[in-house]
Amino acid sequence: MNSTNFINIGMSFPMSYRISVDRAIGITTTIPIEIVYAAGYIPIDLNNIFICDNAPDALVDFAELKGLPRNACAWIKGLYAATMKTGIKKIIGVVQGDCSNNQALIELLQTEGIETIPFSYPHNRDKDFLYHQLCLLAKTLGIDLEVAQQMKTILDKVRKTVHEIDRLTWEDDKVTGEENHIWNVSTSDLMGDYELFEKKALEFLENANDRSEMNYDIRLGYIGVPPICCDLYSFLGKLRVHVVFNEVQRQFSMPFHTQTLTEQYIRYTYPFDIFYHIKDIQKEIELRKIEGIIHYVQSFCHRQIYDRLIRKYINIPILTLDCDQPGRLSGSMRTRIEAFIEMLKKIK
Ligand code: SF4
Repeated sequence: MNSTNFINIGMSFPMSYRISVDRAIGITTTIPIEIVYAAGYIPIDLNNIFICDNAPDALVDFAELKGLPRNACAWIKGLYAATMKTGIKKIIGVVQGDCSNNQALIELLQTEGIETIPFSYPHNRDKDFLYHQLCLLAKTLGIDLEVAQQMKTILDKVRKTVHEIDRLTWEDDKVTGEENHIWNVSTSDLMGDYELFEKKALEFLENANDRSEMNYDIRLGYIGVPPICCDLYSFLGKLRVHVVFNEVQRQFSMPFHTQTLTEQYIRYTYPFDIFYHIKDIQKEIELRKIEGIIHYVQSFCHRQIYDRLIRKYINIPILTLDCDQPGRLSGSMRTRIEAFIEMLKKIK
């Protein structure tokens, strides 16, 4: 697999352009990008590079040819292949608060000559621990945390545009669940150019505000890691379903109003325990008047175990959808989704 000196970002919606690989720092999950931007680097979410590739399935094949196990999560294989394909030489690896597969991936990449900078989220949401981690990351990238704090003010303004896109989804019914997913998921790195991202998001908002309200039969919530399949939202749209909540993607946009970086990343739910996620989900079910939930689980992901607790503590109908490889929904998945939506329409 050949790498070049440039990385192609966002090959489709909402924008696409190239950035220099020398200034890029790869990330495998959401980390405090304020520190990366403030230090003059460009954060690149390798998940987005993988899934926006013209042939993500070929990237999974490439990783398997390089020896990654067939029964490892496909996102991990995609992250490995995306790193090799882009030629990125430095990544920030979350060694606590993400996933153990990711930790093994980071160690593998180290043996391929990739510099890895560790970052940890505290298991018990301890603020002092997190503050120390933020200081350490800032020091490693050669800046003082105070400079990153100033960057937070700038990025807060950019993220506000995505919060408004989210509101237009569930409150005004003018933005589709798929658009909501793409804008929210892209906030993990702000597509490597926060100024361009803000400009495009404002253009999108202007256009979306002029739309009429959508017609639909069911308001659905999507929880769990972002989907690896490409046509889930369009398929739900054909069944007259409006996805009004994308749980994890929304978390990437840092939806809570906070004053400091420590507060921001301690309130962010993704790296922390499932009970903290469930509180957020329950609140949003009520606010967004959600009638049913798709709980997406990635094959071979440890997070599948949480399905039992989600079913125990969330009291609206739930469909658990398990997907393995990138590509279209299988026939049996389509049938299960159709049956679930039919059931929701009947009990309405
Ligand atoms: S889907 Fe699960 S196993 Fe795969 S990278 Fe994400 S957290 Fe790790």
